[in-house]
Amino acid sequence: MKALVLEQQDKATLAEVKEIALPDMAAGDVLVDISWSGLNYKDALAITGKGKIIRQFPMVPGIDFAGHVSRSNDPRFSVGQSVILTGWGVGETHWGGLAEQACVKGDWLVALPEGLAARNAMIIGTAGFTAMLCVMALEEAGVTPESGTVVVTGASGGVGSTAVALLHTLGYTVAAVTGRESTHAYLRKLGASEILSRDDFAETRPLEKQVWAGAVDTVGDKVLAKLLAQTNYGGCVAACGLAGGFNLPTTVMPFILRNVRLQGVDSVSVPAERRAAVWERLLNTLPEDFYQQAATEITLEQVPAVAADFLNNKIQGRTLVKIG
Ligand code: NDP
Repeated sequence: MKALVLEQQDKATLAEVKEIALPDMAAGDVLVDISWSGLNYKDALAITGKGKIIRQFPMVPGIDFAGHVSRSNDPRFSVGQSVILTGWGVGETHWGGLAEQACVKGDWLVALPEGLAARNAMIIGTAGFTAMLCVMALEEAGVTPESGTVVVTGASGGVGSTAVALLHTLGYTVAAVTGRESTHAYLRKLGASEILSRDDFAETRPLEKQVWAGAVDTVGDKVLAKLLAQTNYGGCVAACGLAGGFNLPTTVMPFILRNVRLQGVDSVSVPAERRAAVWERLLNTLPEDFYQQAATEITLEQVPAVAADFLNNKIQGRTLVKIG
């Protein structure tokens, strides 16, 4: 099969499209013919070698994919069935989705929800799945459209843009934080009614004027610290990313004086039942025009160059890799 293969030479990561053979299938494994894969920030860190995502080489990257079952050693999945996969360390510790085929544990697969096209499932991908987890975290913390404005950071990226679209569709007033003026029109189309510059988030005091009922943060570091200082009494910040860095230069003040909740969001190890519920909500919430405006399509051969663009903040929305 054709795959993007990562190898390491003199501590540098090399990425090349090659013909390779998958290992033999074990009990519980499912072989999937991949039709679409997504490109995510984590893939970009892995492919460029800028992040320590992969420790075992050679590795096929790709943390999410959609396709059809080709062979199955798991009674829950039959040949021809449409499936999706996000997370579980696939593309990190286990050969992933930037390939014509993947051999994965049946436990890691989700049946493609009826009514969702495989291409649209990958426009959502890990990023959109994570965005919905963040929205659900805010809902579970009691943040409603009536609570006030919800702010999304890294708004024009994959997670951010899907979060803006989801929140807007669910009736929230959405503010978007972006570092790029070129994305303002896109963000307004997705449903942002207010756009703030990332530069406004460079400095913060322990507590600031209360402005946000909730927040979805994909950036971390000083941006997350400022969000916490500006969150309303009893509000919630759902933190899922580190596009701006993994530090968190904050104080306990928002927590002990304003009852602010900082909710971490992980998409990799979400239990199967919640996964299915998240996909169902994505299918029922995202409007049709989201799929038309939120994706750029590339080939497997273009992946290494586009991965570099991710880390240079040149990507807007979701990047889809056409495989089959
Ligand atoms: P993208 O690259 O698509 O989006 C990231 C966005 O962050 C960019 O579009 C940009 O938005 C902003 N950004 C980029 N560089 C910086 C910077 N130096 N400082 C501040 N903001 C910056 O990535 P994804 O949407 O795929 O992922 C976003 C983050 O979420 C990543 O850190 C990723 O690792 C994390 N993530 C976590 C998951 C989990 O399970 N917890 C799952 C999926 C993603 P703009 O130009 O609009 O400012």
